[in-house]
Amino acid sequence: MRQTPDLSHFWMPFTANKNFKAAPRLLKAAKGMYYTSTDDRQILDGCAGLWCVNAGHGREEITQAMIEQINMLDYAPGFQMGHPIAFEAAQAVAEFMPDGINKIFFTNSGSESVDTALKIALAYHRANGEPTRSRLIGRERGYHGVGFGGISVGGISPNRKTFSNSLLPQVDHLPHTHHLEHNAYSKGQPAWGAHLADELENIIALHDASTIAAVIVEPIAGSTGVLIPPKGYLERLREITRKHGILLIFDEVITGFGRLGTATASEYFGITPDLITLAKGLSNAAVPVGAVAARESIYNAIVNGSAGGIELFHGYTYSGHPLSAAAVKATLELYKKARIFENAKAMSGMFEQAAHALKGFPHVLDIRNLGLVAGVELKPRTGAPGARAAEVFQKCYEQGVLLRYTGDIIAISPPLIINEEQIGHIFNVLGNVLKQVD
Ligand code: PMP
Repeated sequence: MRQTPDLSHFWMPFTANKNFKAAPRLLKAAKGMYYTSTDDRQILDGCAGLWCVNAGHGREEITQAMIEQINMLDYAPGFQMGHPIAFEAAQAVAEFMPDGINKIFFTNSGSESVDTALKIALAYHRANGEPTRSRLIGRERGYHGVGFGGISVGGISPNRKTFSNSLLPQVDHLPHTHHLEHNAYSKGQPAWGAHLADELENIIALHDASTIAAVIVEPIAGSTGVLIPPKGYLERLREITRKHGILLIFDEVITGFGRLGTATASEYFGITPDLITLAKGLSNAAVPVGAVAARESIYNAIVNGSAGGIELFHGYTYSGHPLSAAAVKATLELYKKARIFENAKAMSGMFEQAAHALKGFPHVLDIRNLGLVAGVELKPRTGAPGARAAEVFQKCYEQGVLLRYTGDIIAISPPLIINEEQIGHIFNVLGNVLKQVD
């Protein structure tokens, strides 16, 4: 057994630090579908880490590629210089994107991808002779990371409230699409709610299209509780944005790389946005990396509009870092070779059944799903929102299954290599725990 480390110095992200340190949950190893905790328990990973370890943990193919790369070239500057693996990784990413989306800007995280995409949108309109297009539109209950751009277009009130005086100006929000009275217990896409996209027309009427740069949404809102887009909703957003010359950004940090059984949610829904933000599954979480995939015409407008100078004053020391580029290339090869997305697709029917079998269990208000992601919404305890889900999460962990909770919603998004028995086990444990909590 590994000794518990000194817990006093690591200021943990998104964590109630005091509570955690009183009763730490520590993981020391992982392989395939399982974590090993420091007290030597096997924990079935029901959330692919944080929606990111799509091909399962500890994949040799990725590790080997990273080792070979770091032994050959540890770092090379990305400004006015290049190295082969970054170009190869970009080509590999482009092959997974919808037709026409083939220019790849590397970042280090989802948050950076979002801020990069917003900047690309503004730069595009400037290069295109429409500098007045600077307004950005997000959505209630959207999560786009923690950069100032991301929290401004995001729609999570605690995130926004804490920094309310410092958010980007000129941001509007579409209504979210989740309404229990209309779409509870939908399997796949809810039938009700496409009309909520029409609110975009009202925002455009208020401000005029000539002031609006971009709309950003997650095709499936993950972090605020797995909100599946109603049938026809994303199509409407695409139609309206196209009509008014507004760019549409899909934040596919969660949905990218197989969660719905396709390379992207764009492909799944048959809708091509203008920019796609990526991270998480991009490297199977083996190394921090993100990317923005851009429509070729956006790249061309920015590059050709610059009169030979630096066209986009933006980038990171580690954009296209050799280690992350090697991980990306190896990950995407692995996804193809091991037919990872095909397994997600094959498992999604049984996953849906197993999730919806919890209907009628204590505390359950709603169950929703698409591909290999599901949300189980619980009735909040009076006066203690989130407390019931937190207890369910803790009990599932004690019983060997790692899930996530957000507010009173339990999220399930396992590695895409999962099999039927493991799916059954996750929902059995969750069902038993629901019966054990008040
Ligand atoms: N966008 C979406 C849709 C996300 O789900 C996340 C992370 N959960 C982010 C952006 C932020 O990514 P990161 O934590 O890598 O900055």
